[in-house]
Amino acid sequence: MTTSAQVPAGTGPAAARLEEARRAYADLLGQGLSLDLTRGKPSARQLDLSADLLRLPGDRHTAADGTDCRNYGAPNGLPELREMFSGFLQVPVEQLIAVGNSSLELMHDCLVHALLGTVPGAPRRWADEDRVAFLCPVPGYDRHFSLCERFGIEMIPVPMTAEGPDMAEVTRLVAADPAIKGIWCVPKYSNPDGTTYSDAVVRALATMPTAAPDFRIFWDNAYAVHHLTDEETEVGDILGACTAAGHPDRAFVFGSTSKITFAGAGVAFFGSSPANVAWLRGHSAKRSIGPDKVNQLRHVLFLRDADGVRAHMRRHRALLRPKFDAVLRVLAEELGDTGLATWSTPKGGYFIVLNVPDGCAAEVVRRAGDAGIALTPAGATHPYGKDPRDSVIRVSPSYPDLAEVEQIVRGVATCVRLVGYEKQVAAEG
Ligand code: PMP
Repeated sequence: MTTSAQVPAGTGPAAARLEEARRAYADLLGQGLSLDLTRGKPSARQLDLSADLLRLPGDRHTAADGTDCRNYGAPNGLPELREMFSGFLQVPVEQLIAVGNSSLELMHDCLVHALLGTVPGAPRRWADEDRVAFLCPVPGYDRHFSLCERFGIEMIPVPMTAEGPDMAEVTRLVAADPAIKGIWCVPKYSNPDGTTYSDAVVRALATMPTAAPDFRIFWDNAYAVHHLTDEETEVGDILGACTAAGHPDRAFVFGSTSKITFAGAGVAFFGSSPANVAWLRGHSAKRSIGPDKVNQLRHVLFLRDADGVRAHMRRHRALLRPKFDAVLRVLAEELGDTGLATWSTPKGGYFIVLNVPDGCAAEVVRRAGDAGIALTPAGATHPYGKDPRDSVIRVSPSYPDLAEVEQIVRGVATCVRLVGYEKQVAAEG
């Protein structure tokens, strides 16, 4: 790997810019930073917005229908909480269950049960197939890819476009290969590039012929209510579209309150066709007698209703938006006229994607790390941790405070200039 010490300054047009970048980087090293931008976690101030949850449910313990939340029972979760999220997740309340604290766990369980049980419409257990593959729109969410790796599910990358996954590629692949059993989708304010799928993409996903009769769309709507602008972006109703297309069992819908209330201490949701819900419930009943309804009751009392959720999310937005604005402003100031980078401008979610010249992302992350700025490892946005172009960096500005976000992004931009100009100088010979 090239270091700045090994690259001669040169005399070409990039040389002066490289000199400036080296000085800026030396400055950055001198600052002795220790900052972390690795994961899209809510900040402490965001968590404070839900502080009342710690005092709830007080001495209340009965749900609307009289269920005693302290006891076993209500295996599908509290109806009033399911009602509250039914519209946001676009799943009829009777097909939406509220279970556990993590949607990722539900995705994990769906894979396990599909491997060891038989999903509705499947000729056999996925574990008994010669090959099982999933389409992975890239850039994507690293934990989806880790699940596939964990279970030996082959990952086939498909590029994201401004409208969602490249559907020409998706439809071609799923029509031809019966081993392709699923696709990962983060349909709204996608992790990491902030894309919301267009109606045409949703329709195509619902209607496309698949060689596998048991094909599933893992519709991870993790950012359903996480708007950064006044526009409450909506995505097409995948479950309705699949049902209308004669594929009622095609979509598994996931969501959670992890980035609404407390990350890891919220409530997760699963929605799908009646057959799929019965299938998951049947298997889950073996591992759990029922969900934590005290936590669900606490959420009902705290969030109250759909408008309560919207109001709460506006308070998150007030904290998050200035950080996103700062990232975009600093990137424009530091990299805008360099031709070295492009970046996403999301209307919601938790991430910004920074695209640097091919072959530079890992080196930028390494240089930033040397300067005390921890970034998500380059490649994390791709299956097996390998970004073939080595050009994508995920920026997650939610956790550090505003001043730190600015400092971090200025530092990252310095690293982009350093690595980018080194490459240009090397190319100039
Ligand atoms: N899906 C996506 C796309 C996410 O970004 C995250 C959180 N980073 C999760 C799922 C995890 O959600 P949960 O806490 O409900 O498991």
